[in-house]
Amino acid sequence: MKRVFDQHLHSSFSFDSNEKLENYLKVMKDNDLITTEHMDFSNPSTNFKDELLDYKKYSEKIDELNKIYGSRFYKGIEIGYLKAKETDILEYLKDKEFDLKLLSIHQNGNFDYMHMGNGKIDLEKHIQEYYSLMIEALESSVEANVLAHFEYGVRNILISVKDLDNYASKYLDKVVELLIKKEMALELNTKSMYLYGKGPLYKYMVEKAVKKGLKLFSLGSDAHDISKYAYEFDEASKVLLENGIREIVFFKGSKLEFEKI
Ligand SMILES: [Zn+2]
Ligand SMILES: [Zn+2]
Repeated sequence: MKRVFDQHLHSSFSFDSNEKLENYLKVMKDNDLITTEHMDFSNPSTNFKDELLDYKKYSEKIDELNKIYGSRFYKGIEIGYLKAKETDILEYLKDKEFDLKLLSIHQNGNFDYMHMGNGKIDLEKHIQEYYSLMIEALESSVEANVLAHFEYGVRNILISVKDLDNYASKYLDKVVELLIKKEMALELNTKSMYLYGKGPLYKYMVEKAVKKGLKLFSLGSDAHDISKYAYEFDEASKVLLENGIREIVFFKGSKLEFEKI
């Protein structure tokens, strides 16, 4: 891969990152940079606070960096979808411009799926709940470019590909159909794949998506500091190549760019 454009990054403009945006200059080399800062209304991880990006300050910082370093910084957001907050989400987005919008399902109104206890769960019920929320998000009026970490709901659970196939296959079929219809990309979240050990689930999902005709795939490290910038992108690219996908998509506003792997 010649050009890297990590499509899922956080800086201190997100509530859970302390990394200054300009610090990415140390690792981005000649590449452009986009961060996808959190927008999570009623966030269970922070006592149901509305964790919103300060768009004005963020835009000012991006403009400042672009002046100094020559138009290489782009604006992105990670929309944490919650049906009960859809009106607020749309209201927040309506007068703001982003080059890239990720769509994420982090929570169900009660808890964040990363903070589920390790107690016994009914896997079938859990999967039904999580993927129904994902489908609801994709069928909502919120527009986005990329579906982020499709396995977030099971990131902290031991789950085999066989279990995922048994319980989630019909939902994931629908997810892929919606991605194709909405011209959205499926993210290969390399933090999930290689830090949370969910690589096999991604292999399964990519194979399914390709079979159903999805052509848009993006790579995102989900880094919250510069040490994980473009984390294991070569490994994730192999998963795409094995399935006959030879390019990844970069979103830059209304412009889509493709890069050969
Ligand atoms: Zn996320
Ligand atoms: Zn993220």
